[in-house]
Amino acid sequence: MSEMDIWGDYETLNSGEAYIDSLRGRELDVYLFGELVEEPVDHPVIRPSINAMAATYDLAESEEEVATVSSSLSGARINRFLHIMNSQDDLVKKAQMQKRLGQETGTCFQRCVGLDAINALHSVTFDIDEAHGTTYHQRLLAFLKKVQVKNQVIGGAMTDAKGDRSKAPHQQEEQDIYLRVTKRTDEGVYVSGAKCHQTGCINSHWLIVMPTLRLTQHDKDYAIVGAIPVTAKGITYIYGRQSCDTRAMEGGHIDTGNSEFSGQEAMIIFENVFIPNEFIFMNGEYEFASSLVERFTTYHRCSYICKTGVGDVLIGASAEIADMNGVSSASHIKDKLVEMAHLNETIRSNALASAYEGAPHKSGVWMNDELLANVCKHNVTRFPYEISRLAQDLAGGIMVTLPSEKDLTHNKVGPLLKKYLQGREGGDVTDRVRILRLLENMTLGRNAVGYLTESLHGAGSPQAQRIQIAKGMKINEKRKFARKLAKVNEADV
Ligand code: SF4
Ligand code: FE
Repeated sequence: MSEMDIWGDYETLNSGEAYIDSLRGRELDVYLFGELVEEPVDHPVIRPSINAMAATYDLAESEEEVATVSSSLSGARINRFLHIMNSQDDLVKKAQMQKRLGQETGTCFQRCVGLDAINALHSVTFDIDEAHGTTYHQRLLAFLKKVQVKNQVIGGAMTDAKGDRSKAPHQQEEQDIYLRVTKRTDEGVYVSGAKCHQTGCINSHWLIVMPTLRLTQHDKDYAIVGAIPVTAKGITYIYGRQSCDTRAMEGGHIDTGNSEFSGQEAMIIFENVFIPNEFIFMNGEYEFASSLVERFTTYHRCSYICKTGVGDVLIGASAEIADMNGVSSASHIKDKLVEMAHLNETIRSNALASAYEGAPHKSGVWMNDELLANVCKHNVTRFPYEISRLAQDLAGGIMVTLPSEKDLTHNKVGPLLKKYLQGREGGDVTDRVRILRLLENMTLGRNAVGYLTESLHGAGSPQAQRIQIAKGMKINEKRKFARKLAKVNEADV
């Protein structure tokens, strides 16, 4: 690939529009509904996910303080999604930005995986170099400085296909089931494998591949980390469909519930894809795979504060529908809204506490508190479900039995629907339908993918957090407190 093919033909992407333009004409192999997609940017199912990513650029223009920062590498003003955390304040502001974007889009805006990957790699490459005398850290910084100037999107690709979960990568019958190095040359390495449900990958400029679990000396070929242009030869993307996704192909704006924004997940297949040395940040140092996974997930489990911005939208929609139904002053309705806010703010508190309790690594990067990050994400595996249940409770059954937008505008049945779907006196029927569709979108339609199931499994399924909480909970220290007060012999603990 030429330099231009690798880095793109532009200086810097300084708006959502410029970002969207940078995605055009890239000739990616993207499959959706069994067909090769001609131009993802113009596909009605894909475009809302691109709009959500573009919101990360637009926020940098409209709320500079929130979404831009002075680079810890160059001092230049950059998008916060490309920033290496330099202080406690950086960790806090990052979380606040993610919440804002959840409020703006009502969905996953996809840019956090790369942000969390580069921050985890900052310390891990430092540690590998210290142990092995390698130069990964400088390579990473050189790469990041260029990406920061261009303001590109980095996607992080961690989750492998995994095959038989009871076996290590080298024990699998299918050797590519975890991404691995298939060939080494003086110029770099070739990799094959698959990364599953990769958030925003088609909307990115770069993919950073990383191992997904602890590795042993038998898994050296799986201990590979590198940055790959999304356009590299040998990559195929297979788009994951989402609940109610084809509504975007029907025309109209109401039935989708959120016509502007959605998330994106795709499977990425790598077939002997080349990574040149300058973009390799781990190559065989298997003993650092577990710290990379743990540091990445610590950052990423805090990134799930994004769900509280989405939760704000859902709570707002619930209050709207209660008002449209004429019951906003009923005490049990108000109490349900309070319960939703209580759950949502609990998640926010966890993420912010993890940022405030953060500490620097000797590489200079600041890291979130691990225990609190895991508590945050563990609550995310539960609370959005309860918030959604309450939202559906307030919406009423009509949320899932509503006729379509085409019926609403039909010359015969349209007026009948407008007569019988009337809520509170003076309320607009179409507005009521719009809010009901938004509630449907977020609790069982396209954006429930991100708000619910992704909350459960993204950044690690619930058991993964329980393992980390068990590690960090300091049970012996707690026992000592109890024994001291009860005047039990301390020596036995
Ligand atoms: Fe970011 Fe949240 Fe999407 Fe993950 S789910 S990429 S944290 S917006
Ligand atoms: Fe995620």
